[in-house]
Amino acid sequence: MSRIVVIGAGQAGASLVAKLRSAGFEGEITLIGSEPVPPYQRPPLSKAYLLGEMALERLFLRPESFYVDQNIDLRLGQTVTAIDPVAKTVTVDDAILSYDQLALTTGSRPRRLPPAIGGDLDRVFEVRGLADVDAMAPEVSDGARALIVGGGYIGLEAAAVCAKRGVEVVLVEMADRILQRVAAPETSAYFRDLHRAHGVDIREGVGLETLTGTDGKVTGATLSDGSTVAVDFVVVGVGIMPATGLAEQAGLQIENGIRVDANGRTSDPSIWAAGDCASFPYQGVRIRLESVPNAIDQAEAVAENMLGAGKEYVAKPWFWSDQYDVKLQIAGLNAGYDRVVTRKGDGQTASFWYYKGDQLVAVDAMNDPRAYMIGKRLIEAGKTADPAIVGDPEIDLKPLLKS
Ligand code: FAD
Repeated sequence: MSRIVVIGAGQAGASLVAKLRSAGFEGEITLIGSEPVPPYQRPPLSKAYLLGEMALERLFLRPESFYVDQNIDLRLGQTVTAIDPVAKTVTVDDAILSYDQLALTTGSRPRRLPPAIGGDLDRVFEVRGLADVDAMAPEVSDGARALIVGGGYIGLEAAAVCAKRGVEVVLVEMADRILQRVAAPETSAYFRDLHRAHGVDIREGVGLETLTGTDGKVTGATLSDGSTVAVDFVVVGVGIMPATGLAEQAGLQIENGIRVDANGRTSDPSIWAAGDCASFPYQGVRIRLESVPNAIDQAEAVAENMLGAGKEYVAKPWFWSDQYDVKLQIAGLNAGYDRVVTRKGDGQTASFWYYKGDQLVAVDAMNDPRAYMIGKRLIEAGKTADPAIVGDPEIDLKPLLKS
């Protein structure tokens, strides 16, 4: 009987093993995860869970009994330290496990602030795992002062939770504008205004110079413009790195993540990868996505391919973010866009449509699920949308789907 080992018990790992069983695989499955809890969803960590509005059990993707019922050997709190691709074994704690096929779903690691600038002080938090957020949550209280480093989605979501809980928030973004790496100036402006309306002090073009502390705890920060702020805690949201260490050590090809082909196979024919850690071909380029939908869809495609389906994974990128009472939904990828068309609705409803030449490539929709849904369907069908129609909120978008 064949044996499949999956390293990384997160969103992709859990999806992969579930799909193996639902697709009929009856061999041995071992799912190994460093964290001490069953696979869970991360998005609420910077949203409802941090706000205290979601119970721990609701984070879990499936109850632990699922893995028992499905005869999946779930090993929690165990870290794989080496892969031997020739012997086809992995080293986990003191044990050596053999595999016929191996999948890497190791996710990503947050970038940390270096100790030289105070990154190792107490009350400096990253927002990647449950343990990070459980440690941070008690600090998020009325009247506390927070510095948030980084104006990407994680930093902005943390800022929204903190502001809602009465924390005084200063958010610094080294680039000229928040969300610069991922969105158009229109989207940055929308969220800048939203946060400022909730009292968040957003400072763009300003970086962190150094953190200062007393008795090992962070108490202040000096910023690149020479100003100082007093703080009770710091949230670091300065991006993530794909977790490629094991793959590198095993000699697999790395290219902005673990390089896989369209089927999700690495440079070793017995080893596969999916989720945040994997870079894959997409419309003639190589990309890596950091999102739940990609982790699920790619992992499921890999599971089928491990069983011989030979199925090409065609990503349909989408993403969401919740800040205050605004739901942002993003369809497509905006890389290379040269024009943005604004569709403004009532109140906080708006959408920004990205074009590359005449081709619609992405939509950012704020509190506008209809614009998101129509944009997504158009993009996935390779269709475009007349900017004159998109830009006029009086014109219904639905007929665009028929053209
Ligand atoms: P992960 O879920 O990170 O799982 C990887 C697992 O592998 C981890 O548990 C890790 O401990 C384990 N591991 C790594 N190395 C080893 C080893 N050697 N041995 C054993 N175990 C190992 N996406 C969205 O689409 N929408 C959102 O709103 C959104 N919000 C987010 C908010 C936060 C705070 C965070 C952190 C992420 C958010 N994301 C969001 C991103 C999304 O959660 C990730 O893209 C997704 O979790 C990726 O799944 P994954 O399985 O690849 O990695």
